[in-house]
Amino acid sequence: MGVSAAYHLASRGCRDVVLLEKAQFLGSEATGKCAGGMRYQFSTEINVRLSLLSLPMLDRFEAELEQPIDLRRTGYLFLLDNRVDLAIFERNVAMQNRLGVSSRILSCNEAAALAPLIQMDDIVGAAWHEGDGLADPNGVVQGYAAAARCAGAQLFTGVTALGIRVEGGRVAAVETSDGTIATRHVVDAAGPWAGQVAALAGVDLPIVPVRRQIAVTTPLLQVPPDFPFVIDFSRSLYFHREGRGILTGQSNPDETSGFDQSVDHAWTERHLDAAMMRFPLLARAGLLREWAGLYEVTPDAHPVIDTLTDPAGFTIVAGFSGHGFMHGPISGLLVAEMILDGQAHSLDIRQLRFSRFAEGDLVREHNVV
Ligand SMILES: Cc1cc2nc3c(=O)[nH]c(=O)nc-3n(C[C@H](O)[C@H](O)[C@H](O)COP(=O)(O)OP(=O)(O)OC[C@H]3O[C@@H](n4cnc5c(N)ncnc54)[C@H](O)[C@@H]3O)c2cc1C
Repeated sequence: MGVSAAYHLASRGCRDVVLLEKAQFLGSEATGKCAGGMRYQFSTEINVRLSLLSLPMLDRFEAELEQPIDLRRTGYLFLLDNRVDLAIFERNVAMQNRLGVSSRILSCNEAAALAPLIQMDDIVGAAWHEGDGLADPNGVVQGYAAAARCAGAQLFTGVTALGIRVEGGRVAAVETSDGTIATRHVVDAAGPWAGQVAALAGVDLPIVPVRRQIAVTTPLLQVPPDFPFVIDFSRSLYFHREGRGILTGQSNPDETSGFDQSVDHAWTERHLDAAMMRFPLLARAGLLREWAGLYEVTPDAHPVIDTLTDPAGFTIVAGFSGHGFMHGPISGLLVAEMILDGQAHSLDIRQLRFSRFAEGDLVREHNVV
């Protein structure tokens, strides 16, 4: 979110854009730890509309920013093991089709033909969209960072925002570990830490960090190059090809919120047991790597993209709840529009306003993995 916003602001001629990253490297937190998935298959119109604008920006990324991002249209295959989920996905697919996304419901046999290595005995149907896929998060971060610098933005790593000074109801400065920066605009793009950064400005932003884990196997030569992104929806379990092995993740439903990013080995065992039940070939692979990262979760699993009036000049682009990598491109553009034009105009994002929490006007995204 940060590098995309910095790029879109600077490329539109905004001067004195400064990005602060507390880590030693850009993109080493949620973005660098994510699975790289990008999809149109969401349950709410606003998320589908974000994808309709953001995924074509990823399509054009390499040509426009001269940075390879290893984009692969593998398709996303949601496997459904009960009629309730199937009915929900049927409604979602109808909504996606109405918005121009050619997703469809598949029979078990059709799903098995797309992912022949997957155990399908308990599956009652599937949702599929061949335009969904994968891209390299690090490539996207580096592409935006380089282009933002070329356009005049200054990006600092190893610098932490420690305080936000508010004067007369408006942001006036950011106190950092390296000194104070006077500014009339601050963008909170702190991902899982966005709630902490908002608190610096006196804003109570309901975004909590929740640990999520990923494991990557050693090579499995039987997995075809066109193996799709497969999601066992009721188990929050997913697989895609990573190099010549398989990347798999599973969300622990009992994980409580917190900033702990150590690997929970007890969960790894349960995850890999479930993974081998669904994808028996994994029993023949070794574990190459595993890591944990943080989702940035809001009460309705939608982000906040909004500029506040209290304090004025404070913009939030955070809370993507585990599917924000794919929406980074359009979100940075929307931030630039809010700051430079007074409001976002590429998309109506009123549903993503900060005040919805106080108003109780929440519509939950169902397709959270
Ligand atoms: C395991 C896992 C799998 C995922 N899979 C997918 C997927 O397949 N597809 C998808 O679209 N999304 C996925 N996501 C979600 C996605 O990673 C996030 O939604 C997205 O990366 C959020 O980007 P961000 O820029 O908001 O946060 P981040 O990438 O975390 O960036 C925020 C940055 O702010 C910095 N920061 C925080 N506080 C301060 C401070 N006070 N001063 C200075 N810097 C600060 C942090 O160091 C961090 O680098 C996944 C996430 C995880 C953890």
